[in-house]
Amino acid sequence: MTIDHDIPYGRQTITDADVAAVNEALRSDFLTQGPRIMEFEERFAGYVGSRYGVAVNNATSGLHLAARALGVGPGTRVIVTPMTFAASANCIRYCGGDVTFCDIDPDTYLMDEEKLVEILDRYPDGTFSGMVIVDFAGYPHNLERFRRIADRYGLWIIEDACHAPGAWFTASDGSHQRSGNGKWADCSVFSFHPVKHIATGEGGMVTTDNPELLERLRLFRTHGITRDPALLERNDGGWYYEMQELGFNYRLTDIQAALGISQLSRAAEGLARRQEIARRYDEAFAGHTDIRIPSRADDICHAFHLYVIQVPDRKGLYDFLRENRVMAQVHYAPLHLMPYYKNLGNREGDLPVAEEYYRHCLSLPMFPALTDEEQDYVIEKVLEFIERV
Ligand SMILES: *Cc1c(COP(=O)(O)O)cnc(C)c1O
Repeated sequence: MTIDHDIPYGRQTITDADVAAVNEALRSDFLTQGPRIMEFEERFAGYVGSRYGVAVNNATSGLHLAARALGVGPGTRVIVTPMTFAASANCIRYCGGDVTFCDIDPDTYLMDEEKLVEILDRYPDGTFSGMVIVDFAGYPHNLERFRRIADRYGLWIIEDACHAPGAWFTASDGSHQRSGNGKWADCSVFSFHPVKHIATGEGGMVTTDNPELLERLRLFRTHGITRDPALLERNDGGWYYEMQELGFNYRLTDIQAALGISQLSRAAEGLARRQEIARRYDEAFAGHTDIRIPSRADDICHAFHLYVIQVPDRKGLYDFLRENRVMAQVHYAPLHLMPYYKNLGNREGDLPVAEEYYRHCLSLPMFPALTDEEQDYVIEKVLEFIERV
């Protein structure tokens, strides 16, 4: 089999309906902060099952807002997973807080609950204020269990759910609980970067069930400025607003919200297609002892932002696939080994499970528009390399 184009690891799907929705927004009265923002917030909150959504210009801003709204500042120490994109930890640093990394579970690649408790027990009470956990690759955290740990130690939870819109875990009462549904995490954050499930170019959403956090997220999103008469210290007239905190401009535009609303209407379809692609990879690689496929429990729904395999010779496979126009990727080099975080005192060997995972992991193409023919080609090339070695 041959192909005449590169196959990326992830990419957006844009339909005629998406284009029409954006066109309509462009010709409307509002290019930003119009009715489409609130509609997108409400619809997205409905999709993940939270009470509120706050649309932002990207997930990095959303993480920053969440950290700021939760009161992170100098002297605040937060536990973060190293197996994530840099923004999950950077949001704490933006606010002047400190990061302690906790190693990952070798099966799920999520933050290891036992190691988390070990860290919490090793330090004096009150050392840590919160944790940032990441539903890595789309594998949902059992947030009921993490909430129990958080409550025991007085911590808040930011769930970086950028990989996991539509994922769910099964709670102890048997109910399905969606990632970002606000029941257990204080804030959850989603990204609408083109490689994620829903694309708005740049974009993000913070979800929460907490009305006080909602107010603070909205305040910090728009310069710390409020016009709400109930919140003003004084009121000079209809024109009057107050800047009450040092906030930011982290707003999404109505043009992007229009695209988000249109994309969201196909989110369930896209998720089902991702799961079908995962099943086809699983079947193709079953029985090949040199390929480790993603593990998953029966009682979760994995959102498959990524399909990550582990192989003995990852660099060899990566180079071979690139030569054959398959643009596989690595997610991620552990964050504690980035020069910036090394300079803050982290060292090679600190987090052996994440480091060992990094030596072998490779993300294969995974996006709804991937055709069966393209996937068969990817599978053929992976097996060709594995069987040759
Ligand atoms: C993509 C991603 C982000 C950042 O998202 P942006 O919208 O690009 O800022 C943060 N965390 C994780 C886990 C991501 O995958």
